[in-house]
Amino acid sequence: MTLNVNHENPLRIGVLALQGDFREHMNTLRRLDEVGETEIVEVRLPAQLERLDGVIIPGGESTTISKLMQDYGLLAPIKAFAKAGKTVWGTCAGMIVIAKETTDLAPWKPLGLVDISVSRNAYGRQVESFEEEVSIPALKGDQPFHCIFIRAPSISKTGKKVKVLAQLPDGAPIAARQDQILVTAFHPELTQDTRFHSFFLRMVGEGRGNGQDRS
Ligand code: GLN
Repeated sequence: MTLNVNHENPLRIGVLALQGDFREHMNTLRRLDEVGETEIVEVRLPAQLERLDGVIIPGGESTTISKLMQDYGLLAPIKAFAKAGKTVWGTCAGMIVIAKETTDLAPWKPLGLVDISVSRNAYGRQVESFEEEVSIPALKGDQPFHCIFIRAPSISKTGKKVKVLAQLPDGAPIAARQDQILVTAFHPELTQDTRFHSFFLRMVGEGRGNGQDRS
């Protein structure tokens, strides 16, 4: 089964390709069985967003990504993209960039696409990076997801409209969704498990099905 029953108008997914592990996201998307005719493109310029249904902001360094987004004139266009009801997924640094509030991003400001507060590098330095098997009910299948945390941010606060999708054993949220915005503190693109990308693709498909303005 593919998601793209509409062959005239397949889904179009962009991965912000300014810095960080955008190639890993693209490779994971391409490995999905259900990707069908979905177009997967690198995004560096505002005009490239216009045709898209969903965009991923990858992990990397949130200060660098924020600076480059400003340099490339992408800050307002990404906000407008989300405001138009299109789907955005931020992983790790990408989550910091799209949060409502964060520690330590100055002089940059997060985009405020999702009502969460995050704490940058909350789990410590590179050597304190860790992995955890976490059960995520929103994903297909019963097996836990292998979550990889690399100098990860924590989610310190979630607003009322935010649905927490996964937590660490101590209860700390590590994945959440608010309408068409998805965030993960970890890196699904660094595993062989494609279920999180599948979930994102379903979100994009649903978002487009909601009759929102796609012009
Ligand atoms: N610590 C990085 C930051 O603050 C995020 C790390 C990552 O994306 N793996 O931007």
